[in-house]
Amino acid sequence: MSIRPQPLPWSRSNDLVEILDEPVVLPSLCPDCGGDGYLDSINLARETKAQTCKACGTRWESRID
Ligand SMILES: [Zn+2]
Repeated sequence: MSIRPQPLPWSRSNDLVEILDEPVVLPSLCPDCGGDGYLDSINLARETKAQTCKACGTRWESRID
């Protein structure tokens, strides 16, 4: 009687494929100071992304290309 090895949890690639199919949305630069922004939220219905500036804290929205 032999014990079969269980398939590894990460060998199921369905979830990974879905993640790779997601559009890559990168934060743009702050309109006030030109600093790096980080992505706050993405509104797929309105096709906008909300960002916050790391340097000055300004929040702004821009369209997702
Ligand atoms: Zn800024």
